[in-house]
Amino acid sequence: MKDLHTFAWYAARISPHLPKNVFKPVPSRLWGGLAYLLITVAGFITIGAFELSPFIYLGIAIVLGTSFAAMGFLGHEILHGTVVRTAWLRDLLGAIAFWPLTTGPKLWRKWHNLTHHVHTQHEENDPDAWPTFEKLAKSRFLRWVYKLPHSFRALASFVSLTVQFTLHSSRMFTLYIKEFNPKKRPTVWIEAILPWVTWIGLLFWFGPVKWFFAFLLPLLIANFIVMMYISTNHRLNPITEINDPLANSLTVTVPKWVDVLHFNFSYHTEHHLFPGMSSKYYPLVKEQIKRMWPERYHEMPLTQALKALWKTPRLYYNTAELIDPHRGNVYASLGHGLDPKEIKTIRKEVLPSKREIVKENSLIRDNKEGV
Ligand SMILES: [Zn+2]
Ligand SMILES: [Zn+2]
Repeated sequence: MKDLHTFAWYAARISPHLPKNVFKPVPSRLWGGLAYLLITVAGFITIGAFELSPFIYLGIAIVLGTSFAAMGFLGHEILHGTVVRTAWLRDLLGAIAFWPLTTGPKLWRKWHNLTHHVHTQHEENDPDAWPTFEKLAKSRFLRWVYKLPHSFRALASFVSLTVQFTLHSSRMFTLYIKEFNPKKRPTVWIEAILPWVTWIGLLFWFGPVKWFFAFLLPLLIANFIVMMYISTNHRLNPITEINDPLANSLTVTVPKWVDVLHFNFSYHTEHHLFPGMSSKYYPLVKEQIKRMWPERYHEMPLTQALKALWKTPRLYYNTAELIDPHRGNVYASLGHGLDPKEIKTIRKEVLPSKREIVKENSLIRDNKEGV
């Protein structure tokens, strides 16, 4: 296995080769946000004020969903402090951008900036990392899920991308709310509740049919778009003890116009090296990474990454391998032999029974307690 390095190690080697202005905030990103906000308001007014054919409503819902997603990408950037530096303005703009996806700025910064970025792909500490084989024995739900055939699970997990962001965000709220200083907790609650109050208010105002096209369907579309990226950011990579973005992150490629619409969200490895830099400059960082460490860098088209995700199970057998416990099929991860063009099983494992795993875990626990 290659030596792992922290993101600061890479950043220190790349920074001298970048122009000085790339570390400054870029407030002009807000023009894009304003455009999406105006489109969203225009969509609401059209649905609210006119009785139109459901097909036109459907078209508007698709435009609203893509706008919600794009505003989420901008919200991510704003809350990293790369658009404005003033804390209250950063949080206010971030809250507006994340309003459709209903995630509060303080919760997001704690979950994403302070936890996911610091502990990326750490087995225990990254709230976004996928489970390991050991966790299977402890979770009745996971054991039930992994009894289903792979194709059924793959289909279900792709369908669930339409709700995953919203569900995960609510889970993060319950996980982190206790960790906030009691004085800050009421604000975190208000940030979580206010968006829902407006969306439920819209339901009473518009009635269920118009609300479905103005909010619910766009929310599902937005979840799917943001999750297409998020699900490919790290899930094909290994679990890593040291937070090395070249080992544990994947940059996907999309057509240039999609990068423009999505604020360069596809550059995820670059983002983990420089989370405090505007994504406008990530193409320059990519150039440097490919010049210095081409053999370590992982990059592929988004469609290929999604296909690879479909074909591989989401359970880590050991840090660098994935396993389908249904049949015992083992797959490599990126940097450890996974070829996204030709995904295949590297070997079959005879897995211990549930009783054996539980027994082994309790032995480990007894040993630890005995020390
Ligand atoms: Zn990430
Ligand atoms: Zn980030």
